Amino acid sequence: MTLVPGPWQRAAAGARLLGGNGEVAPTIFAEMTALAARTDAINLGQGFPDEDGPAEVLDAARRAIAEGLNQYPPGRGTPDLLRAIAEHQQRFYGLAWDPGTEILVTAGATEALTATLLALLEPGDEVVVFEPFYDSYAAAIALAGARLVPVRLRWPAFQPDADELASAVTDRTRVILINDPHNPTGAMFSQDTRELVVRLAERHDAIIVTDEVYEHLAFGAEHSPVAAMPGARGRTVSISSAGKTFRTTGWKIGWLTAPSALVTAILTVKQYLTYANGSPFQPAIAAGLRLPDAFFTGLAEDMRAKAETLGRGLEAAGFAVSRPAATYFTVVDTRPLGFDDAASFCRALPARGGVAGVPLGAFVTEEHDGEFRSLVRFAACKRIDVLREAADRLAQLAGSTR
Ligand SMILES: *Cc1c(COP(=O)(O)O)cnc(C)c1O
Repeated sequence: MTLVPGPWQRAAAGARLLGGNGEVAPTIFAEMTALAARTDAINLGQGFPDEDGPAEVLDAARRAIAEGLNQYPPGRGTPDLLRAIAEHQQRFYGLAWDPGTEILVTAGATEALTATLLALLEPGDEVVVFEPFYDSYAAAIALAGARLVPVRLRWPAFQPDADELASAVTDRTRVILINDPHNPTGAMFSQDTRELVVRLAERHDAIIVTDEVYEHLAFGAEHSPVAAMPGARGRTVSISSAGKTFRTTGWKIGWLTAPSALVTAILTVKQYLTYANGSPFQPAIAAGLRLPDAFFTGLAEDMRAKAETLGRGLEAAGFAVSRPAATYFTVVDTRPLGFDDAASFCRALPARGGVAGVPLGAFVTEEHDGEFRSLVRFAACKRIDVLREAADRLAQLAGSTR
């Protein structure tokens, strides 16, 4: 029998997610994590925290298991978590959503994104995506048979060019996909860009899908969701997740808010992807979303201090360093150190400098690879003593490369 690739494998190959031989290639994230472990390097590659989240949240999950909440939760999410998501959207953004019809709990933001794109896209539709982009976007768009149209966010400010954005959105555009605050660059969109996105979506009758998993990790100006902009609410699917806010990336509790007709369409897909997940984690995340404002401001402040510690170390090492406005991440240019290929730089760095990062090539289309070729992303979501040690190691690198 000849095994022919299925649609997912073909889609993944198209999105450069498979090795040349058709095997599932280890992602650059996994490769760098393994390399960091082998060389005893500090892993600032993969973006997961090395500290636990709030005790209230962890304790609530333990209690839920002890109390027997171990069977399938309702497909839309537990009523209490749906209510907590509605309260959170109201408290932080003044947005009112009906917990019964306009909110859906998902297996992380990843499932929310994939179910949304599969539900909304027809083969041949175009999706405007800001590049560099989170790697699952390309896979989900390819699986839907749609076409990814990249709009570049250029070093070092990583803001889109208004003309480039305006010409990327056409009547073929079904979805404009936004990630704000942005991984991997740490940038946040300006008010002007958010307004332009809404105007373009209205003009071309496109749906806006927003990935806001870093909503509570903005260092200065607060995050402002596109759904709160005039004219946006009726055509926007807003996606978030507990993973980054509560340091529970392994729990995979995410959610989306959208007008009920869109939620119904997305639920028909979600129903047959996972149906439901994480029943003891859902009450725990409801407790997290109800934590006082001080938790959320403290989280952003902690992350800002960490990003600054990392940024100082990277500057001392001689990199050109971007100034992130939010998220776990800082991007650097390796050219001042005499490198122009970030992928080979990242493969050498753990052994030479005792630190691991990931090249931005992991987040871009093949056609634009060259423009991001010298850039590396480092994650600052680690303990402050770990970041200080990483900064010391990087400072020594400066002496050894010149
Ligand atoms: C981490 C991350 C996700 C995935 O979130 P999960 O809740 O773990 O599925 C989605 N988008 C971005 C930009 C992320 O950084």
